[in-house]
Amino acid sequence: MIMSCGRTRRLLWPEAGPREATAEVVAAREHAAGCEACRRFLDDMEQIGERVGRIALRPTAPAEVRDRLFKAIARARTATGGPPRATRLRQLFIAGVAALLFVGLSWLGYVTIRGESGATDELGPIVEDQLRAQKGAGLASSDSLQVAQWLGERLPFAVQVPIFPEARLTGARLLVYNRQAGAVVEYLVQSRVLTYYVLPGGGGGFARQVQLASRDGYRVASWHDAGLTHALVGTLPGPKLVEFARYCMHQMMATQVTSPRSGSSA
Ligand SMILES: [Zn+2]
Repeated sequence: MIMSCGRTRRLLWPEAGPREATAEVVAAREHAAGCEACRRFLDDMEQIGERVGRIALRPTAPAEVRDRLFKAIARARTATGGPPRATRLRQLFIAGVAALLFVGLSWLGYVTIRGESGATDELGPIVEDQLRAQKGAGLASSDSLQVAQWLGERLPFAVQVPIFPEARLTGARLLVYNRQAGAVVEYLVQSRVLTYYVLPGGGGGFARQVQLASRDGYRVASWHDAGLTHALVGTLPGPKLVEFARYCMHQMMATQVTSPRSGSSA
């Protein structure tokens, strides 16, 4: 199997701990072992993850760097090998990205909590999770049934893995907080990461209107359904994210028709 640099990096990062050694993952590891650019990319990403973890223990940094966060995320997520550079410069770059990532996400959490009345507590863990995105066991797969099954074996509630026409499923992880587990499903839309969260909490009722919190092109579209909070997080334009959210809800309603749930008359 011939692996491109891009495919290798998408398969191997975020580092998701021990994962199923599919033929693709094996081929990606073989590629990374022999490709200096990919090895450096994965080393850099690992360092960024470690530094974010360390910075997370410190108070927040100055406000003026916040607006640069989202570019930094984009760079970290889609960084290409490029020509070799001075190690010192790369170290500075990594430190800078890690700092921006942390500060910006703290700030995003603040805005999200301030900006939404009903969805406050449930979105906090999403922000926390972004800091730990490189850690924790996960599954790299583009097969929605396999991903749904993997989540189903690990969560006390069923998670539907929505299919979006323009998005490619890349895998799933668990998000554990307050001794409860939630689902994190990741997609690529063109080259942008789109993350779908399903977390316990949010009350027993329905709040199917989509709440949109946004800043600098980075957005959270969230809604509640039957005791679960759903959220789509990404750098896509707001209307696109809302459209995807509606897509999610429709797919869920379509399958709920056959489930024995009662009390749905309106
Ligand atoms: Zn490569």
